[in-house]
Amino acid sequence: MKVALAGIGKIALDQHVPAIAASPDWELAATVSRHGSVPDIAAYTDLDRLLTERPDISVISLCMPPVPRFAYAAAALKAGRHVMLEKPPGATLAEVYILKTMAQERGLTLFTTWHSRMALAVAAARDWLSQTTVTSAHITWREDVRKWHPGQDWVFEPGGMGVFDPGINALSILTHILPAAVHLTSANLTFPENRQTPIAAELTFSGNVTADFDWRQQGPQTWDITVDTPKGHLALRMGGNALEIDGQPSGGSDSIMGEYPALYARMFDLIASRQSDVDLAPMIHVADALTLGRRSLTESFSF
Ligand code: NAP
Repeated sequence: MKVALAGIGKIALDQHVPAIAASPDWELAATVSRHGSVPDIAAYTDLDRLLTERPDISVISLCMPPVPRFAYAAAALKAGRHVMLEKPPGATLAEVYILKTMAQERGLTLFTTWHSRMALAVAAARDWLSQTTVTSAHITWREDVRKWHPGQDWVFEPGGMGVFDPGINALSILTHILPAAVHLTSANLTFPENRQTPIAAELTFSGNVTADFDWRQQGPQTWDITVDTPKGHLALRMGGNALEIDGQPSGGSDSIMGEYPALYARMFDLIASRQSDVDLAPMIHVADALTLGRRSLTESFSF
């Protein structure tokens, strides 16, 4: 199946291009980007031109930041193409509901990807938790924004989500593995005085679930989720790639498929079965945190 990648920047080059190249199901047929390109691949700077000139390309995978993504997704769906969205799937929830309806009306596939759900131990954690109840859970998601997003000012602009850009990965895992839904009840958000989005957030949910997101962590990075249950203590570490039960490493998944190859395999299956996969649960928690959050200011941030 031929796919065009739009928004050729960090994640497109780090993950999408290798995942497509490694798959026998997919062919990277073109790129759409104002400046970026991929060697030996037809490069367009304008999506409308690609949609007109390349009827052979049936799938558009969108890798630009969330704010500009809606216009690209809507144009692709209007032109009868299946669409795959990087996380978070849009700048607002309403945008994504509109895209979902557009895809439904046209019989097209829309896939709101959550790459962290494809991490190696997430399926095993979900299975283990499905047999029990949760008494409490905590997320610690602390990383260095300068290391992972060097110079990407869009993360601190409206719609860039700030620390929720990585934090939503944790929420995508949480909403996938918990056996019952929770809802956010309060949040403390810390904004650099010169920026529009938070650099740190403390979240409290129903069901004794809490989260600590911080983008100022130097040295070792922490991407952990711990869950207490009557049958024991589960810890999912390394962004969902390592599972511990009661402090002991646990088998985890048999899959050796990386996160992005797994996303493209899922997209292929969704198209083949004429389905969409649009799950906004992680983004609803972010929107709720930005709705209920108490704001405090901290020192200015620059890259
Ligand atoms: P990025 O490198 O800053 O942006 C990707 C590309 O999008 C840019 O190179 C740019 O290409 C295009 N772009 C930027 N602003 C645009 C605009 N206003 N209109 C149209 N195109 C625009 O960002 P990224 O790190 O790849 O992240 C993109 C998405 O992937 C985000 O939603 C992010 O959360 C997600 N993601 C990122 C990572 C990561 O490690 N960075 C990991 C997982 C998921 P042109 O200038 O050539 O148009």
